[in-house]
Amino acid sequence: MKPYNFYAGPSILDPAVIHAANRALDNTNDLSILERSHRGKEVQTLFSQTKSMLKELMQLSDDFEILFLHGGARLQNCMVPYNICTKSSANYIDTGTWSTKSFEESVLIRDSKIIASSADKHYSYIPKELNWDGQGYLHITTNNTIHGTQFHNFECTSQGVVVADMSSDILSREMNFKAFGLIYAGLQKNLGTAGGTLVIIKKELLEDLPKVPSMLNYKQHVKNDSMLNTPPVFAVLMCKLVLDWMQKEGGLTAIENRNKLKSALLYDAIDSLDAFEGFAQKEDRSLMNVTFKLNDSSREESFNLLLKQENIIGLNGHRSKGGYRASLYNQLPLTHVEHLVKVMRKFSQM
Ligand code: PMP
Repeated sequence: MKPYNFYAGPSILDPAVIHAANRALDNTNDLSILERSHRGKEVQTLFSQTKSMLKELMQLSDDFEILFLHGGARLQNCMVPYNICTKSSANYIDTGTWSTKSFEESVLIRDSKIIASSADKHYSYIPKELNWDGQGYLHITTNNTIHGTQFHNFECTSQGVVVADMSSDILSREMNFKAFGLIYAGLQKNLGTAGGTLVIIKKELLEDLPKVPSMLNYKQHVKNDSMLNTPPVFAVLMCKLVLDWMQKEGGLTAIENRNKLKSALLYDAIDSLDAFEGFAQKEDRSLMNVTFKLNDSSREESFNLLLKQENIIGLNGHRSKGGYRASLYNQLPLTHVEHLVKVMRKFSQM
């Protein structure tokens, strides 16, 4: 039987998406899209349709450019500081591993500072006090995949240019996406598979870019419509199929409601069962990555064994952190969470 898959990424894919991909790639009677030139109309149409669907879902106007790039979210850790608001220093909120890595990359490139951090409490919360004068840009990681915290307030976007790494919560909830200067996300969690990165950038930020090598230059990628080199067609195809699936599921509101239901069910089990303890502070808990541990760590072996017997995989916390983490990305069905909660209840009675 297929396992209940709680991996943090690459994430679970709905069977309907995989079936659609199989159909899209069938080349029995004709070439598949993967064999076609990216200069041809099939690939061009795929890219423009995917962009229009994203624009509609995120309610973005023509003031934004959408790019599909290689290199994962981590390449954006250097592209952002190379290109954006370079006349002032770059400002970072340090909310754990991925945001720390973003900052460390920026330091190599320009004057950069951390203006708020939750390192003092092992990244269990989102800092609320920002000491930002609105100059340069502010970089945030909207969902902290490893620690299980998430921004639920975006007032900072009224102060200046905010750059957001949304790799692990993109399109998981309704948001005012227009308020951000730049959004980036690897596609492998809520938008399909690894191999492509979505970058959304406000056109006005492109006006005054410094000279940087072309593959790192947003303006060059925009000018070439994401085809400065051979683009990640498979990743974009998967993204389009996931967006089709989202539409059929009822769009962003329906997805958000289901995400709330799934995470509430699991947090309720963590809070109500003595055997478990949540990691993140309640008001900053993530709807995507639920982190917790056992109150009695000597029982980990028996919990792990039970998970195995119950066909649950991907529940280990990140190797840097330990404990447990259930990733509840968009395509994870409610039934998976119900099964996990049932197993947790069983464990707490053992
Ligand atoms: N940022 C966040 C929030 C992530 O969760 C990850 C991957 N788990 C990354 C960045 C790195 O992404 P990539 O592997 O696409 O470079």
